[in-house]
Amino acid sequence: MPTKGNCICVKCEIELRPKKNGVFLEETRHYDLPYKIWHADLLECPSCGFQIITGFGRDPSAEHFEDKYEVLKARVEFYCREHRLPTFDDVRGILEDSGDSPTNT
Ligand SMILES: [Zn+2]
Repeated sequence: MPTKGNCICVKCEIELRPKKNGVFLEETRHYDLPYKIWHADLLECPSCGFQIITGFGRDPSAEHFEDKYEVLKARVEFYCREHRLPTFDDVRGILEDSGDSPTNT
């Protein structure tokens, strides 16, 4: 291992650096239902700004059935979704084909 860390930016050929230690991330399931909240670290490439979340604890900080879930959810800054949520650009063609586009009204 050439570095102390585990993450290298392939594009910039440089080690990612800690951007913020101790961030909360919510993991969702079944089309975005709350599931688990994790504590981890945010790393960033100092050259291009590419970011990843890594350094997760062994266990989640909270699971959806625990009382502390809603308390920690207020501190969530990042998400890990089972599926990528559609953006407006994803559905733009569907809206335009159906004549429901806001630009046609
Ligand atoms: Zn980079």
